[in-house]
Amino acid sequence: MVKLIKTKKSGKLLAKNCGAACLVFFLALALAACGISPAERDFFAMDTYIEIQAYGKNAEGFLTEANTETIRLENLLSAHSEKSELNALNSGKTPNSPELLNLAGEAVSLADLTGGAFDPTVLPLVELWGFGDEMRVPKQSEIDAALETVGYGKLRSDGNKITLNGTRLDLGGIAKGYAADRFGLLAAQHGVDSAFASFGGMVAAVGQKPGGKPWRVGVKDPRSDGLAAVLEVRDTCVSTSGGYERYFTHEGKIYHHILDPKTGYPAESDLLSATVVDPSGTRADALSTALYVMGKDRAIEFCKENQICAILITENELIPLSGADRLISEISQSYELIKE
Ligand code: ADP
Ligand code: MG
Repeated sequence: MVKLIKTKKSGKLLAKNCGAACLVFFLALALAACGISPAERDFFAMDTYIEIQAYGKNAEGFLTEANTETIRLENLLSAHSEKSELNALNSGKTPNSPELLNLAGEAVSLADLTGGAFDPTVLPLVELWGFGDEMRVPKQSEIDAALETVGYGKLRSDGNKITLNGTRLDLGGIAKGYAADRFGLLAAQHGVDSAFASFGGMVAAVGQKPGGKPWRVGVKDPRSDGLAAVLEVRDTCVSTSGGYERYFTHEGKIYHHILDPKTGYPAESDLLSATVVDPSGTRADALSTALYVMGKDRAIEFCKENQICAILITENELIPLSGADRLISEISQSYELIKE
């Protein structure tokens, strides 16, 4: 466990160990202090352990629907399931639902915004490296062949229709973010104004905690089981991407699941993780992946240019950007806080 120091804001440090897959997580202990227990559910979907909770009289009904909705989204958006609608789209079947077309269109816009650091056409590469299944190091010739069919520039999307032009879509980089957005929308429909969801490295914080305090979200220390920082947020989403989340080792080298769409290899990033805070979970999810691919210098420039609220973590630095410093309540002593 790393040592954390408090920033000028008050608040007792609350930390717990979490599994390797858990990048951002909710610090629930504070709630015990106010004596109100939330309604809670946990389940496995989208290849991750999901925890949802809510307060108020409609909480139970809302959580039941949010659980069902997450499973529906998994069945809609998984590129690796033969039954998903995304798979049908990738196999050339039309028509496709407006929901899938909208999300695919949003993925293309985010690819455009990030100059292809986030690229939803990486599926042939993901399959080659076996991140949905058995992981292995492909031959260079296989990577070259896969790269021929990768590139969001080949896609044409007008909102009503998407033309793949030989590519195949992987929405794994935004599926959890979209699920976080749906969680927020469903909460509003059920009249729930205080709720929280953790989809592995993706968090949705609806409203604030009962009693008016912000939600506390831990950003995992990429080098240990502890926390690198604690954020205090309201009504927003927080997404973290890091190469340590899903990886395998071959001949002493680590190969992780965030790919550089230009090289076809796992991104050689000097970042250990990138966290994005944004009211849109879909955007936060894509941008955290993109920042990680970009690496420190490009990510800093990109966040400043586009006012992306982010926290970048390198081997020994923690770099908050575009107002993220105001959300940090605690920082691990193992990192130097860099003010950009
Ligand atoms: P996770 O979903 O594991 O939390 P991310 O949100 O960072 O992690 O997305 C990683 C997933 O997105 C990969 O498993 C893969 O399916 C896909 N992916 C990998 N590299 C990229 C990329 N550069 N652009 C878009 N999607 C990617
Ligand atoms: Mg992502």
